[in-house]
Amino acid sequence: MEDKDTMSLLSELRDTFKSGKTKSLEWRKTQLQALSNMVEHQEKLCFQALFDDVGKGKLEAYKDEVGPTKKTIDYALSNLKKWMAPKKAGLTLLLLPSKAEIIPEPYGLVLILTSWNYPFDLALEPLIGAIAAGNVVVIKPSELAPATSSFLANTIPQYMDNAAIKVIEGGPEASQQLLQQKWDKIFYTGSPKIGRIVMTEAAKHLTPVVLELGGKCPMIFDYSTISSNLKVALRRLISAKWGVCCGQACVAIDYVLVEEKFASSLVDLLKVIIRKVYGDNIESLANLSRIVNKRHFDRVCSFLKDPMVAASVVHGGSYNEKNLVIEPTILLDPPLDSAVMNEEIFGPILPIITLKNIEQSIDFINMRPKPLALYAFTLNEALKTRIVSETSSGSVTFNDVLIQYVCDELPFGGVGQSGMGRYHGKYSFDAFSHEKAVLHRGYYPDLSMRYPPWNAFKMEFCRLGYSMDYLNLILHLLGLRKYPKDD
Ligand code: NAD
Repeated sequence: MEDKDTMSLLSELRDTFKSGKTKSLEWRKTQLQALSNMVEHQEKLCFQALFDDVGKGKLEAYKDEVGPTKKTIDYALSNLKKWMAPKKAGLTLLLLPSKAEIIPEPYGLVLILTSWNYPFDLALEPLIGAIAAGNVVVIKPSELAPATSSFLANTIPQYMDNAAIKVIEGGPEASQQLLQQKWDKIFYTGSPKIGRIVMTEAAKHLTPVVLELGGKCPMIFDYSTISSNLKVALRRLISAKWGVCCGQACVAIDYVLVEEKFASSLVDLLKVIIRKVYGDNIESLANLSRIVNKRHFDRVCSFLKDPMVAASVVHGGSYNEKNLVIEPTILLDPPLDSAVMNEEIFGPILPIITLKNIEQSIDFINMRPKPLALYAFTLNEALKTRIVSETSSGSVTFNDVLIQYVCDELPFGGVGQSGMGRYHGKYSFDAFSHEKAVLHRGYYPDLSMRYPPWNAFKMEFCRLGYSMDYLNLILHLLGLRKYPKDD
């Protein structure tokens, strides 16, 4: 897209915003309903696009992308009026009589840059928040999911207000070009590396950003306390590694921490289930998505090319370049200074790291960047308390995996290197709204204490007022109190 085309497109969007139409409850509801219709009517095309991009089967596509998107639209539609309503703010005695309220207002022109691994849901989840909050929006889907990108670019204009919502396709150059413009809010989902570029560009215009980034999500597997629940725990572990776009998910388990004495049992049990679910022939693996493209395939395979890492393979390890498929692979105690233990894996390799005792997992996690999600399978309440209070992460989930993503009442977002800002449910509305403070005052009473000339009496009035010592304040005003008069 030419620079001048981008400028004229943005100026059209700004004009739409200035017209005020996106601020009405009616417009927001109509657009959310239109999006809901689109998701409903175009489900087949969407499934096809997700299959073409990452080989995602229908069920996985519905479970992880279409279903959550539908749910989020319904949730926003039923709560929107409440979210938009001004909230009363409390007042101190000194401010009476007044009325204070917090009014959410849309930022204005919003840019949404998305990632390829959940190319449908990750574009529409923030879009729902942006529209619910009354903004005009540009979405730039990921070029690495070209079928979904073109699905969104073709379908959104058929259903939604084209003067307020635009989809611009393209790769890093398109993102760079968009980032040169002045936005009122930028919402970015992707890697920490590009997140830094986005934030740098945003800083030039002091544009606020939400960065939904990635990293290494650990799982603490407290084997001894969950031995009677192993079957469920293992199923969940496997689904959160290989069942989510083949491990290409920001909240996928990156590595597992387990006590030394249980490691071989854990590996043996995992092998049995993996064989049952996926098979063990690289030519005919079932139920597994593929790696998105050759570059990422090479990146994931390169972890296994390190001889020390290859020596730690206890299951799998084969790959098929033609289909971009990598076998579910387990590593037992790969070197901690290897790339696989220092970079986000984002693929079907699961390192299992052994510890003398499970409490050591807290130090292990704290020595690394703060993760987006931390999982712990444990029934040990003391350990749970320590995990919550002694580690920092975007979320902590006990005895389950991934499910935190669809909990509308929980904020979703990272901390430190895994991101900044949060969304989902009401938090999405908040992410795209500025909370404006509005104070309504009248002209009476009008205390002379606020105005010069200053004197000791007024100084004492301020001291008592700020310390909210109202009894002495009244006595002071009535002249019934001693106070220092030397200044
Ligand atoms: P990416 O950072 O490569 O790309 C994301 C977006 O940035 C794309 O739209 C792309 O076009 C754009 N982009 C790429 N290079 C750019 C550049 N030089 N300048 C400006 N824009 C550029 O990320 P990805 O490979 O699509 O996604 C994988 C990463 O995203 C992983 O780290 C994963 O954990 C993270 N992720 C996070 C979440 C979350 O919700 N926190 C969700 C999905 C993925």
